[in-house]
Amino acid sequence: MKILIVEDEPISRRVLEVNLVGWGYDVTHATDGHEALEMLQSPDAPTLVISDWMMPRMDGLTLCRKIRQMHVAWYIYVILLTAKGAKADVIQGLEAGADDFLTKPFNREELKYRTRTGERITNLERRIRELANTDDLTGVSNRRAFMEIMSMEMARSRRSGTPLSFILTDIDRFKRINDTFGHQAGDRVLQHFADILSASIRPYDTIGRYGGEEFVVCLPGTDLPQAESIAERMRMNTEKAPFMALEGSEALCVTASFGAAVYTGNPLDTIDLFIKRADDALYQAKHEGRNRVRLQREG
Ligand SMILES: [Mg+2]
Repeated sequence: MKILIVEDEPISRRVLEVNLVGWGYDVTHATDGHEALEMLQSPDAPTLVISDWMMPRMDGLTLCRKIRQMHVAWYIYVILLTAKGAKADVIQGLEAGADDFLTKPFNREELKYRTRTGERITNLERRIRELANTDDLTGVSNRRAFMEIMSMEMARSRRSGTPLSFILTDIDRFKRINDTFGHQAGDRVLQHFADILSASIRPYDTIGRYGGEEFVVCLPGTDLPQAESIAERMRMNTEKAPFMALEGSEALCVTASFGAAVYTGNPLDTIDLFIKRADDALYQAKHEGRNRVRLQREG
């Protein structure tokens, strides 16, 4: 687990660091609130902060307030270092949004167990967030979480001027699988298909379950020809991987159809229009006989 130490005094910083590293934590540090705030913006930033109170440029109290105003999707747990026995400090700190306090100079055991408490709470928060964002059956993002990521990626695409692609895919004749083999087999087909999709993407891509047997893929920094080849790979991998619906039954060939669209940063182009273009392409793929990839129409 990553911890960010924010402390301007080198000796105190060193003591914290040595202890925390000794307990197996992955420690980084900043020397004031400004530096800390910048470090906390990145997606893989630490979620537990141990911050000194008195620091140049930005003190611990201000840092706390700024952290609570930050727009990040995860919780940041803050332990403030305070002077011994200053009740007014604790009240001020709580008001600013601190989760816990450590008095300076600190007691080693207290540091250990207060850090552990923070770790327990941030782990719980992560677990809850994962559960809230994940489709139970397939383990990919649920529709709400996926749409949030898509909006973020569209905003990023507008800022950076890089294309963003989107794939909408649907398992062919899924109803027939359900009707023939039952819903349990149908569920296994959904899991099987989600696994194939997940194996075909890059680490920064996102897969979501859009509903029923429809899945969606968000591909940042990807133009339409690249999206086409990713969709084609997914289509082939699906076709190539026969699925055993029931124990000892005959292998079932599952196929899927794909529609792909690209977003190039036009601010008038909404998320709904973007999805509609992929949906039209998917409709075309189905209409032309399924098990194929179709792209949005030009223009
Ligand atoms: Mg200080």
